[in-house]
Amino acid sequence: MGPGPSDVDPRVLAAMARPIIGHLDPEFISMMDQVKTMLKAVLQTENELTMPVSAPGSAGMETCFVNLVEAGDKVIVCQNGVFGGRMRENVERYGGTAIMVEDEWGQPVDPAKVEAAFAEHPDAKILAFVHAETSTGVRSDAKTLCQIAQKNNALTIVDAVTSMGGVELDVDGWGIDALYSGTQKCLSCPPGISPVTFSNKAVEVVKARKTPVASWFMDTNLVMGYWGGSGKRAYHHTAPVNALYALHESLVLLLNEGLENAWSRHDLHHQALKAGLEAMGLELLVDEEYRLPQLNSVVVPEGVDEAAVRSALLQNYSLEIGAGLGALAGKVWRIGLMGASCNRRNVMQCLDALENTIR
Ligand code: PLP
Repeated sequence: MGPGPSDVDPRVLAAMARPIIGHLDPEFISMMDQVKTMLKAVLQTENELTMPVSAPGSAGMETCFVNLVEAGDKVIVCQNGVFGGRMRENVERYGGTAIMVEDEWGQPVDPAKVEAAFAEHPDAKILAFVHAETSTGVRSDAKTLCQIAQKNNALTIVDAVTSMGGVELDVDGWGIDALYSGTQKCLSCPPGISPVTFSNKAVEVVKARKTPVASWFMDTNLVMGYWGGSGKRAYHHTAPVNALYALHESLVLLLNEGLENAWSRHDLHHQALKAGLEAMGLELLVDEEYRLPQLNSVVVPEGVDEAAVRSALLQNYSLEIGAGLGALAGKVWRIGLMGASCNRRNVMQCLDALENTIR
């Protein structure tokens, strides 16, 4: 019950143990088509450029920035936790200028500050923000932020590593241009794969670049030779065959449950966890309006040794919860309710273990 990786359904683990076939085998190619179709359904998009990058969420992040940022570009980067800071590093490493919009850790991105940043920098090419900040447990209003970017003719890059599968995410409905996610959070799949999607507008921007994409591996023009239109697949890299079996199975499980049912399940168990924590006198960091059900930041009570509690939970109950990161280190615990980990048994076990440990 940490901030990810989450528990993996036995069906997903069993899928990983299937025999390896070639990454250009016709059976594998037909499975790739199904993975693409299911990713589009989960992300609610028709984007042709929708694929799993063969590497973790950080590589999905780099894929978005390395393709869309060129030297001299201005990118408005919102930071309200750890991961916005990594976006800034990406922009700067690819020669762009990051215009930072900062919000307190534990608060959502403030749309008024983003409007002000566009007013000051009307030539900004991209707005980048984290939908679900895993370091704090905050959900920002992606729909409103995308509307502001569209009004200012800017593209959007959205981090949906923790949001995908756990809360509403509507790529086409909200007009997101480039998005990356991860498999190890609410998809409940082993880590190491990053679903990404690019709108047609974003693809046109990549095609019109003045300079080549600085990464060979992440250049979408090249990798789409392998993940692009059905039936015309050419070798680009040796795909992680078994990890993709796992992704396929986890997407089947999620779509069988239904997206809205999965979001409701996350909310239901979050409400139960919250009620139990509050009954114990513990406090959640984030205002109710912006809380992520899948990542619960709990304020460490005065005088409690937070690291000792985490290690007692691990030793005595085999229960992992996360520590605070960055500005919140030592101040919060992060309790994940992600994907297959988000169930009644875990909530009850966590409350029981925590109560016995801090009493
Ligand atoms: N973005 C967010 C919001 C995350 O929570 C994480 C990982 O926890 C990442 C990016 C990076 O993903 P990965 O660790 O899979 O590279």
